[in-house]
Amino acid sequence: MRVITTIKDMQTEIINLKAQSKSIGFVPTMGFLHEGHLTLLKRAREENDIVVLSIFVNPLQFGPTEDFSTYPRDFDRDQSLAECEGVDFLFYPSVEEMYPHSSSVRIIVQERTDVLCGKSRPGHFDGVAAVLTKLFNIVLPTRAYFGKKDAQQVAVIEGLITDFNFPIELIPVDIVREEDGLAKSSRNVNLLPNERRQAAVLFKSLAAAKETIEGGERNPRTIKNLISNMICSETNGEIDYVEIYSYPQLKTLENIDGTCIIAIAVKFSKVRLIDNIILEVGQEIGGVK
Ligand code: AMP
Repeated sequence: MRVITTIKDMQTEIINLKAQSKSIGFVPTMGFLHEGHLTLLKRAREENDIVVLSIFVNPLQFGPTEDFSTYPRDFDRDQSLAECEGVDFLFYPSVEEMYPHSSSVRIIVQERTDVLCGKSRPGHFDGVAAVLTKLFNIVLPTRAYFGKKDAQQVAVIEGLITDFNFPIELIPVDIVREEDGLAKSSRNVNLLPNERRQAAVLFKSLAAAKETIEGGERNPRTIKNLISNMICSETNGEIDYVEIYSYPQLKTLENIDGTCIIAIAVKFSKVRLIDNIILEVGQEIGGVK
């Protein structure tokens, strides 16, 4: 595995590989790798000649009061994990390398950002779109792998790839969870011990919602109340949102029907956690996949 820190070196390697018709699987991350990231890497390894992992904590996608400075980082550990997963290139640029001067062009994500994390984190998806546009042009991937844990991000990236005609196949990958159901996240290490125990309730509440929908409930408000009540009574976390939308459109639903997402965000003392489930709800009673 080669660690590359400059855009020029990365592009030179990729252009050579492209000239040899190699397929490039790309997994962009902010590092502090866990099983979720490793699942993306395994999938990329299976499906491509070359695997590129990027590790870059992108300041543009953090708000001024968010956790950019306390975001966990451990490059040495990440490097060994990446090596074990058969990564060919680890792209690890500095902030100065990625943003040497203020941008002369700004990308604004217009659709699907007035809800969920887009609403709670103004500018977040503009920052994600900006860094991915740069990374896509640097890595020229054949396929790019993203986790469904960030389901709104997947929807936004689908728009970015389509609108800007990136010749990239987007591969969404299922959420990887801890044994108690908590979605794996680099941020989980910043939970206090009692918060870590309570955090399992996030998935428990989504599972209860799914079961209730399977039982025939179709009223979004009833389901949202069920989730909110469980989170409020069983955790000290503060609910940021509990929402149900069509997916990937992220439009409000009168009735739970079709492909929909139930998404939650909960703030603990030092960490804000997100989770979701995506359901296929049929017309027939209890028709949930
Ligand atoms: P991050 O380092 O948090 O920016 O995540 C990098 C990629 O890994 C994103 O596409 C995430 O959606 C994905 N990811 C993070 N956590 C998980 C998880 N628990 N399961 C699946 N994918 C994940």
